[in-house]
Amino acid sequence: MGKRDYYEVLGVSKNASAEEIKKAYRKMAIKYHPDKNPGDATAEEKFKEAAEAYEVLSNAEKRQRYDQFGHQGLGGNGGFGGGMNMDDIFSQFGDIFGGSGFESFFGGSRSSRRAKKGTNLRVKLKLNLKELANGVEKKIRVKRHVVAEGVTFKDCLTCQGSGQVKKVVNTMLGQMVSASTCPVCGGSGQIVDKKPAEADDKGLVVKEEIIPINIPGGVADGMQLSLSGKGNEIPGGIPGDLLILIEEIEDEVLVRDGNNVVYDLYVSFVDVALGTTLEVPTIDGKVKIKLEPGTQSGKILRLKGKGIKELNGYGRGDQLIHVNVWTPKQVTKEEREKLESLRDSENFRPNPGKSEKSIFDKVKEFF
Ligand SMILES: [Zn+2]
Repeated sequence: MGKRDYYEVLGVSKNASAEEIKKAYRKMAIKYHPDKNPGDATAEEKFKEAAEAYEVLSNAEKRQRYDQFGHQGLGGNGGFGGGMNMDDIFSQFGDIFGGSGFESFFGGSRSSRRAKKGTNLRVKLKLNLKELANGVEKKIRVKRHVVAEGVTFKDCLTCQGSGQVKKVVNTMLGQMVSASTCPVCGGSGQIVDKKPAEADDKGLVVKEEIIPINIPGGVADGMQLSLSGKGNEIPGGIPGDLLILIEEIEDEVLVRDGNNVVYDLYVSFVDVALGTTLEVPTIDGKVKIKLEPGTQSGKILRLKGKGIKELNGYGRGDQLIHVNVWTPKQVTKEEREKLESLRDSENFRPNPGKSEKSIFDKVKEFF
């Protein structure tokens, strides 16, 4: 199922201000809140969809990435988990509805326990041009903190499992109760009861895991993909994310330019004068091309569809072959005689016509 455009979800324009986005989301969150629509799956979907859209558009960096690359740029649509769970959503409400969160805004009944989230793991992933172009399945080895097998938890003694401690303060207006996160359990309401010897005080062990990931074709150097829930676990909370930073391994002969691949071809004067067939490297192996007799130096040949996959589409870029005529740096006596004999030949005198486009026309044509 395709994801809807985030701006469309919130009903705002592409250049909406942060304040407009916040306002639009607040409206939707109230309208579709699960407490107001019990058992309504459609409302819940809309609620989650709006929360996800807000999560991205309220963050300048994510918004910019989304504007540029769409859902794929965020790793939301290519097998990277994506979506948000309810705990994420409710933990967001502090920003939307003021410091006291959604409950006081609504007078609602939902527990205001904030879900704790484990820390994110970051890895770099080096990919060659072919992998960037076509996409690839990779296995990533990570060391994660996970809740040890055999660990049991019990309600925190300090907060009786509520995750919050209440303090009664006497003020001019009478007694006020203020609640804050329990310092012992950190808000989860749970503490370790029994644990195996190798686990730490929080009941965690370090585990090496191999995580498969599908990299979509078209990703680029510097992009970050996120695999939600594959970061460090945390007792009583939700696991952090695994963040994968893409790095391009430079190819020896092919250069990426957006979704195109550029190749500098060097040929002898004889080959362009008389025409020839030769092989050029592409990201998918060697391809035979034909040089017509009379090919000018600087001509750009195009191999359609031999470039990089579009990240958010079905198309592919092209490979552009830049023809350079190689001038010999030195010649033998015999070669010199042959060349001298051609120097005054009529056909060898430069005579550029309309068919020989200037470098400016070529640049215009391709970019
Ligand atoms: Zn506690």
